[in-house]
Amino acid sequence: MTRWIGETLYDGYQQRFKTENILFEEKTDHQDLIIFENDYFGRVMVLDGVIQTTDRDEFIYHEMISHVPILAHGSAKNVLIIGGGDGGVLREVLRHKDVICTMVEIDASVVEMSKKYFPEHSDGAFEDPRCNLIIADGLKFVKETDQKFDVIIVDSTDPIGPGEVLFTSEFYSDCQRCLSEKGILVTQNGVPFFQADEVTTTQERMSPHFKDMSFYVVAVPTYIGGFMTLAWASNDEALRKQSVDVIEARFKQAGFDTNYYTPGVHVGSFSLPRYIEKLIK
Ligand code: SAM
Repeated sequence: MTRWIGETLYDGYQQRFKTENILFEEKTDHQDLIIFENDYFGRVMVLDGVIQTTDRDEFIYHEMISHVPILAHGSAKNVLIIGGGDGGVLREVLRHKDVICTMVEIDASVVEMSKKYFPEHSDGAFEDPRCNLIIADGLKFVKETDQKFDVIIVDSTDPIGPGEVLFTSEFYSDCQRCLSEKGILVTQNGVPFFQADEVTTTQERMSPHFKDMSFYVVAVPTYIGGFMTLAWASNDEALRKQSVDVIEARFKQAGFDTNYYTPGVHVGSFSLPRYIEKLIK
């Protein structure tokens, strides 16, 4: 049976996917999860009515949210992922040979269903001995842990449902406390063409806890509306402003290939379009 799955992005505006095949549709302990097939995008995951990831365009977001902070840091060993249950960020993070990774995801069903229906997202990364998967609330984890991380990547849902706490000042403050001296925090921050207030609110809540705070951009087809912003925070301003030559040398040393990320894109992504710059005070 043909069904159209819609995502309401703004009052009066939707994107819709045609599907003949719903693979999974259930309320988990935390959210409504739908996984279906679409002719163009392959398998698509929706949580609480919001598109999370698709087979076809996932590489863009996962490469940019992972390699930009890790290569900007230059010697990251201990990485924390909050959310990211589909395993795409974990896969990209573990491509860095010297890295070990703790991943804190609130919803075990997302991990289990992703292993089953999106095996290429994690590509075996959940079984990698360098991965420590913890099923817990990310807010609680960063409040209680005494570990220090070089990079924290927040691959969360939008600020509704269980993801809401990951957009609070309290969470950003706790992340700052468990970052190492040159540590970097990166968070998914929505599409500013539709969600302009997320840029303003995140800046207000995150910047008091760090010496340097800004955003970088990436365009992901199914996060429709042009660029999405990824928030960036660190106590070392220089990490955001490194030359393409420095990043190029580190990328070469890392020794893997990508499909979106390049050192040039990395450096350029911190140059913000004017309409986004204007949202930042
Ligand atoms: N890339 C997607 C995006 O940009 O919208 C996000 C994908 S990933 C599936 C989002 C994950 O964040 C979900 O699996 C969800 O369960 C998880 N999550 C939401 N709130 C959380 C919390 N408080 N602690 C840990 N994980 C959380």
